[in-house]
Amino acid sequence: MSENLVHILGVKFDNVTLKEALEKAIHLAKSETQHYIATPNPEFLLEAQKNPEFKKVLNESDMNIPDGMGVLWAAKYFNITRNSHSKTVKFLKWLSSLLIIPFHPKYIHTVLKERVTGADLMEQICKHAKANNLKIFLLGAREGTVEKVKEILEAKYHGIKITGTFSGTPKIEDEHLITEKVKKSEAQILFVAYGAPQQELWIHRNLHKMPNVKLAIGIGGTFDFIAKIRKRAPKFMQKTGLEWLYRLFQEPSRAKRIYNATIKFASLILKENITSSKSS
Ligand code: UDP
Repeated sequence: MSENLVHILGVKFDNVTLKEALEKAIHLAKSETQHYIATPNPEFLLEAQKNPEFKKVLNESDMNIPDGMGVLWAAKYFNITRNSHSKTVKFLKWLSSLLIIPFHPKYIHTVLKERVTGADLMEQICKHAKANNLKIFLLGAREGTVEKVKEILEAKYHGIKITGTFSGTPKIEDEHLITEKVKKSEAQILFVAYGAPQQELWIHRNLHKMPNVKLAIGIGGTFDFIAKIRKRAPKFMQKTGLEWLYRLFQEPSRAKRIYNATIKFASLILKENITSSKSS
């Protein structure tokens, strides 16, 4: 198991492959103690800069998987400029390292070895849950989505035990009802789809109230992908850092979020590297 951590904008990332992340997740879910995993992407990192509580919750997780090509790029960029003092060199490397991604995506797979998405990790955990005798609870998303996700997963992974589903809301006043439902389900694994940072903060506030849950993971829009409410970008776009372009066409209403995850994030990384000498 890799204990190798990479820090970007003050948030830790585990340098793991999907296979290693799965092994660790199953190990945590089968343990006696409680754990949570987060799936930070560039939007998480931006949010963490202005939300210290969120940053703390991310840094206290049992594993942070790098869920975004932007994260891999930032790790690579800090690495290739670690001995540079010239602002011009830092800028030129920033520009060239960004431009190279669509043509040579492997270039950024060296400091952090793999992009591991929450969606892929959830799929793998579901695939291996039965063999490991693990029960699952699905929480979040819009009314009706979790029930559909349950049906789809049960048809796909025969024998999988999804012992509870609930949409609910991340509001404090719903917490008692939700935690009671999760407790009743006796599930060891809890997937929470309330979007960041609500889902991570929700898990952090409530995990101890559900002692049966050994592993909780915030998985953002994954239920929407499984229920086919939203479509994931084709593999080649995911691999070449062009997923944002696909999302922009699919969901133009997310334009601001996409701008944040690309231009704003890349600009912040450049600014951080030019103004700070302790980049990792
Ligand atoms: N969501 C929810 N309640 C909320 C906010 C979000 O159930 O108060 C759900 C939303 O329906 C979606 C998921 O949280 O299924 C995350 O959505 P988002 O678009 O943020 O996911 P991402 O694309 O970042 O993975």
